[in-house]
Amino acid sequence: MSLKTLRKIPKTIGFRLTFWYSFIFTLSVFLLFLFAYVYLQATLIHKDHDEILTELRELHTLYQSGGIPSVEKNVVSFRKSPEKNKFFIRIASQNNHTRYIYFPYQWVEFDIKSLEVIAPTPKKWIRISDQYHKAYLEIMTTHLNDGGVLQVGQDTRERERILTKFKDAGTIIILPLLLLGILGGSVLAYRALHPIRHLIDSVQSISRDMEALGKRVPNPHSGDELEELISLFNEMLQKIETLIKAMKNSLDNVAHDLRTPVTRLRCMAELALQKEHLPEECQNALGECLEESIEIQKLLNTLMDISEAETGVLHLDLQAISLNQVIKKVLDLYGFVAEEKELQIEIEMHPHLPIRADPTRLTQVLANLIDNAIKFTPRQGSVSIKAFPQGKEAVMVIEDTGIGIAESDLPRIWERLYRGDQSRSKKGLGLGLSLVKAIITLHGGSIEVKSQLGKGSTFTVRLPRVEI
Ligand code: ADP
Repeated sequence: MSLKTLRKIPKTIGFRLTFWYSFIFTLSVFLLFLFAYVYLQATLIHKDHDEILTELRELHTLYQSGGIPSVEKNVVSFRKSPEKNKFFIRIASQNNHTRYIYFPYQWVEFDIKSLEVIAPTPKKWIRISDQYHKAYLEIMTTHLNDGGVLQVGQDTRERERILTKFKDAGTIIILPLLLLGILGGSVLAYRALHPIRHLIDSVQSISRDMEALGKRVPNPHSGDELEELISLFNEMLQKIETLIKAMKNSLDNVAHDLRTPVTRLRCMAELALQKEHLPEECQNALGECLEESIEIQKLLNTLMDISEAETGVLHLDLQAISLNQVIKKVLDLYGFVAEEKELQIEIEMHPHLPIRADPTRLTQVLANLIDNAIKFTPRQGSVSIKAFPQGKEAVMVIEDTGIGIAESDLPRIWERLYRGDQSRSKKGLGLGLSLVKAIITLHGGSIEVKSQLGKGSTFTVRLPRVEI
């Protein structure tokens, strides 16, 4: 892939659709995950605090009825139940001296002594961190009737463990989700742009070859704006096709209608020129009339030939002939012109190239192509003619080092009366290639051109081969 194509990718609708879909998908998943995390954290905190407050109320009632022994008796039963063996319990005197304390062994990491210096304010959570600052001991305080305080708490390690697991799961699934988002986005963009790609293909093939004007973009039957656009585009193609056909027909009709008056004009000029004692001025004028009418007749005949060849009416006198012989015959005709322009002519031909063709029409085709190659190649350039078999075809390649054809002009050179800007100074009618294409197509063959402005052109003709 070239750098230019790579640079174009971010600008394509397909890329932008994929990017935005993946971005919104990933962002939504991330926000959903964040919301679930915050919600889970709030629920766990609420549950932990609820348990501490329930325990605090229970122990407060026990203390009021039986003092520290009563609390101690209850705590003994804690050891048998892992459910309860997670609470921290402290009873302190009025001046915050510890009178009774109970905490499970795993809590040694917390600086419990610091509670003697933290003022025990009821209804306010006290948080003591462990030495690694990874977990906390959350403690709630309540006043006792004797002026002392009761504190109950539990650590946040279980809560942190659940939240860390949740976070880890999120980190693991985020990459596959991102890939899923990109994949989903690409599929979505591909499906959404499928009809547009058909549209682009059709427009491209029409701009490459006007014959493709008969093509239509397949209807996606999606019932959306794209379907509307495609049917409007097809309607427009239909109208253009009808218009072009009408233009061609009127050109054919004009050519047909003008043939008789022009022939009469030519005959009259010829007859008048045969008269004796004509003044010189009249002779010159009649001579010019004759020359011009011959040119117009040629143009009209070629126009009619093209029209007949395109509609398949042109009669072909098909014979088994050798492509080599036709090429040699045409080269004999143009050898002198090439010599005069000091052009180098290279010929490379396979000895056996039998085809079935109309020799006169094929000579016309080759003469047009070789004439163009010589005409559009500056002095001391070169023209090469190659002929060889390829599969079931006989291929002829005419390559020149001439002025070349602009890329934008390439599809138009086959049109009737079309002449490139640079060739206007040269002799020609702009009908040669239209006739060439029509005759070759009528023979069941094909012609294509490759050209680079200022470097030269290559015309490739393919004709079906026959066995003799
Ligand atoms: P004409 O030769 O009478 O102008 P054609 O139908 O033979 O008409 O060719 C149409 C146009 O195609 C030419 O006017 C010219 O611009 C271009 N063309 C054809 N052959 C060549 C070539 N070998 N090199 C450069 N341009 C060419």
